Amino acid sequence: MKDETKCLHSGYKPGNGEPRVLPIVQSTTYVYDSAAEVAAIFDDPTKGLCYSRFGNPTVMAVENKICDLEGGVGAMCTTSGQAASLLSVLNICKAGDSIVSTAEIYGGTINLFAFTLKKLGIECIFVDKNSTDEEIKAQFKPNTKLVFGETIANPALTVFDIERFANIAHSMNVPLIIDNTFATPILCKPFEFGADIVIHSTTKYMDGHAVQGGGVIVDSGNFDWTKGNFPELTTPDESYHGTIYTESYGKMAYIIKARMQLMRDFGCYPAANSAFLLNLGLETLPVRMRQYCDNAMAVATYLENSPYVDSVAYPGLESDENHELAKKYLKGSSGVISFRIKGGRAAAAKFMDGLSLASNEVHVADIRTCVLHPASETHRQLTDEQLAAAGIDGAMVRFSVGLENIEDIIADLEAGLIASQK
Ligand SMILES: *Cc1c(COP(=O)(O)O)cnc(C)c1O
Repeated sequence: MKDETKCLHSGYKPGNGEPRVLPIVQSTTYVYDSAAEVAAIFDDPTKGLCYSRFGNPTVMAVENKICDLEGGVGAMCTTSGQAASLLSVLNICKAGDSIVSTAEIYGGTINLFAFTLKKLGIECIFVDKNSTDEEIKAQFKPNTKLVFGETIANPALTVFDIERFANIAHSMNVPLIIDNTFATPILCKPFEFGADIVIHSTTKYMDGHAVQGGGVIVDSGNFDWTKGNFPELTTPDESYHGTIYTESYGKMAYIIKARMQLMRDFGCYPAANSAFLLNLGLETLPVRMRQYCDNAMAVATYLENSPYVDSVAYPGLESDENHELAKKYLKGSSGVISFRIKGGRAAAAKFMDGLSLASNEVHVADIRTCVLHPASETHRQLTDEQLAAAGIDGAMVRFSVGLENIEDIIADLEAGLIASQK
């Protein structure tokens, strides 16, 4: 099946006389005829459901749909994108380990990696993606367990060279984890370029309607954990009756461990009702992504020609420094644009206040056009140095193009830009 068909049919196939639409299974638990059957599920969690803290049929249908879209072997939903990022790391790292990440990632992920993981004893080594392979490899330590990057960085809008970093990671015997939130599997499938694990904030385009938060981790099944230094996967888990994940679950070792150990213990599993809403968003994802790309291209072109704009970052523009990478990795550059207004921080604030259609809100990738000033909002915790490393300054505005008529969007932008210069 192609993506459009998967979005409608993967994950849930009704049998004879069953509901056409994915049912919401609003139950915390599941009934069995015998203690032996329940015991068997405890022995092998792939044999059935036992408790909705780590498995529910509605959520699992959506997990299977996203897994199918990314081309993985297994997926697990979480209550937020942040939870997905956290669990994707904790699944293979413990206190005393380190990770390597590009600095051009989502501000929330920077906080998580630089501060909270540090408190848990996990060091994040931030690397400049423009460094050479040798320079990046030189930053690895013997305890480095993974490499992390974002397909299209939020909000810098740079495109991550997935294949290059996959090669670097694999040469160091560690996996590459990609945050594919902005691209979605409709515009980029990181596994095709060598990534091993993909995560998403489903809060963004996947849900698409700003109705509920969520995240997901998808496992490609391609990384050979027995070749690297991953005792958590290759030696007995005493919290799970001595299971050795790589022996019992082969290609699904990582994702089964994430569910049976981390989700069991942290319990950040979405409710069935949230998964139902996410599924509605996923059903129209390919149609929406195409329109977001078209609208954003028109907005980026307009901004590029505006006298009130110093620079525009949108990988779809031929003039953009990421355009070649975009051509290699993306089927479209998504709906988010960042640009720098003439006049710096003060002009950016006047621009924001001069808009009427686009809403000033802490969200992105919504069906409605929305706008944000990263330096004073989402990224306000970062130092100037971290801001610069993340590709942000006071003049920068992040504009998330919605699905309104393009003429209305541009008229609003124009009013904002004129106001910015007053
Ligand atoms: C929003 C976002 C996250 C965090 O997701 P939440 O659902 O808000 O927790 C992670 N990565 C990227 C790229 C994001 O845009």
